[in-house]
Amino acid sequence: MTRARVLLLNAALGPLDYRVPHGMTVQPGSIVLAPLGPRQLTGVVWEEDRMPSAGEVGDNRLRPLLSTYDLPPLKDSLRRLIEWTADYYLAPPAAVLRMALASASALEGARTITEYRLTGFIPERMTAQREQALKRLAERQGLIRELAIAANVSDGVIRGLVKAGAIEPVEVDIDMPFNPPDPDHHQPDLSAVQTAAADAMVEAVQSAAFKPFLLDGVTGSGKTEVYFEAVAAAIRAGKQTLILLPEIALTEPFLKRFTARFGHSPVAWHSDLRQSQRRRAWRAIASGEALVTVGARSALFLPYANLGLIVVDEAHETSFKQEEGVHYHARDVAVMRGNFEGCPVVLASATPAIETRQQVELGRYTELRLPARFGNATMPDIQAIDLIAEPPERGTWIAPRLVTATAETLERGEQVLLFLNRRGYAPLTLCRHCGHRFQCPNCTAWMVEHRLIRRLACHHCGHTMPPPHACPECKEEDSLVACGPGVERIADEVKALFPQARTAIITSDTIGSPAKAAEFVNRMEAGDIDIVIGTQLVTKGYHFPNLTLVGVIDADLGLEGGDLRASERTFQQIMQVSGRAGRGEKPGHVLIQTHSPTAPVIEALISGDAESFYAAETEARRDAGAPPFGRYAGIIVSSEDQKLALETATLIGRTAPKVEGMQVYGPAPAPLAMLRGRHRFRLLVHARRALDVQDVIRDWLGALEWGTKVRVAVDVDPYSF
Ligand code: ADP
Ligand code: ZN
Repeated sequence: MTRARVLLLNAALGPLDYRVPHGMTVQPGSIVLAPLGPRQLTGVVWEEDRMPSAGEVGDNRLRPLLSTYDLPPLKDSLRRLIEWTADYYLAPPAAVLRMALASASALEGARTITEYRLTGFIPERMTAQREQALKRLAERQGLIRELAIAANVSDGVIRGLVKAGAIEPVEVDIDMPFNPPDPDHHQPDLSAVQTAAADAMVEAVQSAAFKPFLLDGVTGSGKTEVYFEAVAAAIRAGKQTLILLPEIALTEPFLKRFTARFGHSPVAWHSDLRQSQRRRAWRAIASGEALVTVGARSALFLPYANLGLIVVDEAHETSFKQEEGVHYHARDVAVMRGNFEGCPVVLASATPAIETRQQVELGRYTELRLPARFGNATMPDIQAIDLIAEPPERGTWIAPRLVTATAETLERGEQVLLFLNRRGYAPLTLCRHCGHRFQCPNCTAWMVEHRLIRRLACHHCGHTMPPPHACPECKEEDSLVACGPGVERIADEVKALFPQARTAIITSDTIGSPAKAAEFVNRMEAGDIDIVIGTQLVTKGYHFPNLTLVGVIDADLGLEGGDLRASERTFQQIMQVSGRAGRGEKPGHVLIQTHSPTAPVIEALISGDAESFYAAETEARRDAGAPPFGRYAGIIVSSEDQKLALETATLIGRTAPKVEGMQVYGPAPAPLAMLRGRHRFRLLVHARRALDVQDVIRDWLGALEWGTKVRVAVDVDPYSF
């Protein structure tokens, strides 16, 4: 090759051609360093016929490549996945490549890196900042920048502490090997039903061919134990496994469980990793040394050397849908990756999405069912509390029957989970004098009061402010009132009702990191917590045998949005949180507080008749031509300038092509009409299943132009419609 087409890690650019200098050899997939103006950018060599160039340049005017990285080239299967993802989700290929290369930060060549840690020596000259750093860095080791971030001080403060001898450098070998998991470490005795499901997956792993499975088992049926057998089969075959989890808070308990089964932990991949850990993991994945990787959705695009199995755990979870940058659904991309790699893909869920069930109907996915809980554990008994017939006392949110059930559970020495999917103390704060409501200056959202940190916060952009003593509108003092409950307020109510009980609030505010999540699990298992008050973070994955009562504070909350997915989402969420009750020897009880006990979704939850609920939902989708029977794509136009955003959206709407079987709605204000200071309008494209809607949108938007002040993003298969 004397000329090479290179896809650079710069989303604004298409691929460019370079000259391969004498003495350098490259092939498709080679990771190279290329010049661009005065800069140097990392990129990957691509086949010319699979990646059109951004600008043709004659041979004599090509600039030479600078160097190649000492790393294995990206395999064809991964490059096909990158092409497919860019194509399907209408994203720049470079933006997808960035996920595969972990934005190149994982690539640097050095074998060792210098990290820093405390020596224990306390320097004579102390400042407030030094003190803060020494206090916060007790258990940490990392690069200067990482420590500075962790301690919330400048790099200079850390450097000063190195000079003073309070922090010392340590050389860390990034090629330190990972211990391989042992497939025979601790093999469980599977039940007959479990064995049948495991065998089907093991066989697929051994035949090393693409085959998607839906592992559909009620909560506590042993889905994890069962797919672990498929993982063991992959390890025995010397193949790599990728396990995707919906939430990094779940990683730590998962690692514990994995280690109990396989003797050693898998390689973890998530946003909380230090850069050195990231580099080490990336290289071990690319070399094939990392036999099992567990990670959040971003682990999906890593360069596995020989992937033999993909598992998507809790596959129905909405957090697999990425809503920024490349708008992709990790569940669906996982299936495509299995297709390109030629390996089985297991989607595990107790409440599969209607889209996934439809794939089973069509015979594309093989369904494996685990219809009962493992061992003596039975499904919890679920009842509704009609909030109109049995209201809580004025100014409280827990109805008498749930209070009594909680008291009885505590008396038996068992644990209680109260579920409310609302962070903070109260969702809305207003002035009782003038009615002023606190709204985020950057978003169409109320500021939510968080009493634990004494601030009002926006849950969309992160903007916070101290709660003012006086209303900014009418200047009346001490006039602010909290409206409605959040988990912190429920926790206050619980403390007033059960002053002796030990409580914990579990939200992304309190267990945002894997370490904090692990601490929570340990405290639950040790019996140090009596009542958990939590958001959707506690609905998934956890297994606490002594937790026997689940109370749903407001089952109607998820139905408010009113889109076609609302009932399904509510059903999944309440089934999942109910699934936390009675997972051990003791039976579980679930009480659901609702204003509409006769709503189909609530009736289905109580009767346990999931099948007719799914059937009715599926029919409703079919009638509406909604997914999986039709498809949607959102076109989101945003700008800091509201008029410009609306004008551009209107232009896009007016130039919509007339295509048989496709309608375009809008523009209308997007579900969040303002986000992070940008005004947003949405056009919704609705099309027949068979229509290549991406192709239509590509031509349509490709013919239009807008300035740099407007951003247009396409959301293919949006979550809400
Ligand atoms: P799910 O993922 O379907 O909710 P889990 O895999 O978490 O279910 O299993 C629920 C509990 O039952 C776990 O504690 C698990 O270890 C246990 N369990 C499941 N199957 C077996 C088995 N065959 N032998 C021993 N314990 C099992
Ligand atoms: Zn905001």
